[in-house]
Amino acid sequence: MSQHIQSVRGMNDILPGEAEFWDVFEETVRSWLKSYGYRPIRLPIVEPTPLFKRAIGEVTDIVEKEMYSFVDSLNGEPLTLRPEGTAGCVRALIQHKLAAQQPQRLYYQGQMFRHERPQKGRYRQFNQVGVESFGFSGPDIDAEQILMGARLWADLGLDGIKLQLNTLGQPEERANHRAELIAYFEKYADVLDEDARRRLYTNPLRILDSKNPALQELIVMAPLLTNHLGSDSMAHFEGVQQVLRDAGQPFEINRRLVRGLDYYNLTVFEWVTDRLGAQGTVCAGGRYDGLVEQLGGKSTPACGFAMGVERLVALIRESGGEPALEGIDVYLVHQGEAASRLAPRVAEGLRDQGINVLFHCGDGGFKSQMKKADASGAAFAVIIGDDEANAGQVMLKPLRANGEVQNEQRRVGVDSIADEIMNSFLDWEEA
Ligand code: ATP
Ligand code: MG
Repeated sequence: MSQHIQSVRGMNDILPGEAEFWDVFEETVRSWLKSYGYRPIRLPIVEPTPLFKRAIGEVTDIVEKEMYSFVDSLNGEPLTLRPEGTAGCVRALIQHKLAAQQPQRLYYQGQMFRHERPQKGRYRQFNQVGVESFGFSGPDIDAEQILMGARLWADLGLDGIKLQLNTLGQPEERANHRAELIAYFEKYADVLDEDARRRLYTNPLRILDSKNPALQELIVMAPLLTNHLGSDSMAHFEGVQQVLRDAGQPFEINRRLVRGLDYYNLTVFEWVTDRLGAQGTVCAGGRYDGLVEQLGGKSTPACGFAMGVERLVALIRESGGEPALEGIDVYLVHQGEAASRLAPRVAEGLRDQGINVLFHCGDGGFKSQMKKADASGAAFAVIIGDDEANAGQVMLKPLRANGEVQNEQRRVGVDSIADEIMNSFLDWEEA
């Protein structure tokens, strides 16, 4: 007996019922992005492996153990399914000289791939919406991107998503802190786990991002970067906070917030909820002024963030959100030869007028078709038998108005069905 082939572990199907929530989410996100002047960019899912190694950093969870990398069997090229979107976006920016003339505000969305242990809110294929700006160096854009987040949560009807903020300063400032960190963690080498011990001399800042509960006490007591920050870094951070305070946006400064990718500097932030269990970060980002140059482009200040769509959709559902998508207006019932010739033309004619029609396909008497019409959620049944068809008419039967089941039905001419339906909708709206 052959076994059914299942989807790859951690890579999920989004079925009807859930997928409508995604549609609503994506529509909301698109108009929100437009309201801030962000423009779409569509990027490949597969990129050369060295892109991610150089951008994200060799000593990071993603590059060390989470990437789906493979060799193109036809030409031997090392390739990787993208684990995040910023690296590809910067590659495209450089390749097409997008930032040469003017600053850019860009967004993308789509699947990302990380070989993590699947659990609630953590998958191997997941979706992000990513927002990136290039060519702005001041704290105003950082603050704008943070306030954008707040507006989206409101647009999606979500509350209780809290903002955490930190600054990572500049690479020179981090170098001094690094020495202090190494000295500190060396004293506790026997407490460190394998990852932390390996990173002690290559990337000690990464230890602060460890999720290992056994290390948390040590991490809380670790020396802070703050003491090494110069006045420019402090001023930038203060500038971001000023805009947030003026906008009435609450935030918490979290000195331990470091982010899982190496390319960040200055501002970093996360949006966190306590309603999703352990995987509570729904959105994260910050400034990465060095990355464009690091990938071979002209030095360009940059700032961006990415949100986890699965986690946000889960939060929308958890908050009792309803997908308010347009439903079906008409179920088209037909029986008989003349009726079945007329019916497809009636359906197309209604769609020409912007009416959503579910056409009865296959056999079935009037009674069973009417049952399906009732179950479809349509506002009307348009019923065509041979009598009606020969007279150039249909039966229009309201199924429900404003949630109430309707009964009275009437015959109307084929040419006036759309008008009749539209007028009924208007009447119902007024009532
Ligand atoms: P985490 O600390 O949860 O591992 P991260 O720091 O690795 O997150 P980023 O690379 O900043 O996450 O990605 C931005 C957002 O994408 C995260 O805040 C989260 O909402 C989402 N995300 C990241 N990894 C996954 C995953 N494996 N499954 C689902 N969503 C994810
Ligand atoms: Mg991660």
